[in-house]
Amino acid sequence: MAFCQGCGTPIQQTDAVCPNCGMANANQIQGTPSDKPIIVNVQQPVGAAAVPAPPGNGMSIASLVLGIVALVGSLTICGSIFAIPVALVGLILGIIGKNKLKTAGAPFGKATAGIVMSIIALIIAAIVIVFVFVLGIGMASLPRYRF
Ligand SMILES: [Zn+2]
Repeated sequence: MAFCQGCGTPIQQTDAVCPNCGMANANQIQGTPSDKPIIVNVQQPVGAAAVPAPPGNGMSIASLVLGIVALVGSLTICGSIFAIPVALVGLILGIIGKNKLKTAGAPFGKATAGIVMSIIALIIAAIVIVFVFVLGIGMASLPRYRF
């Protein structure tokens, strides 16, 4: 009985290679050809490298988050002022992220959602600002509506 020098598995002295790891048997007895097929042990890479996130993925997530924040903010009077710059940044990040993901051939649903939500937030914020502030100032300038 011999042992594989590679993995320590007990192997036959007549074996040309270790049936477990495929290492050549240094102590093989010559002249006794092994009829066993040579097993090539294809080892799976341990801890395969994680698939890197496609470029533009972070931007798309940021766009989506900014779009949601802007959308929620646009629904309030004070928030609508802050929603415009937030939505603009979300829109820009969404467009850049979408282009990068498209180039990389990755799905860009998040970027599209970020762009759409940013645009909706911009529209709502613009409407709120126009109605509340412009109309409010206009009404306040009229004596009978002064408050
Ligand atoms: Zn072995």
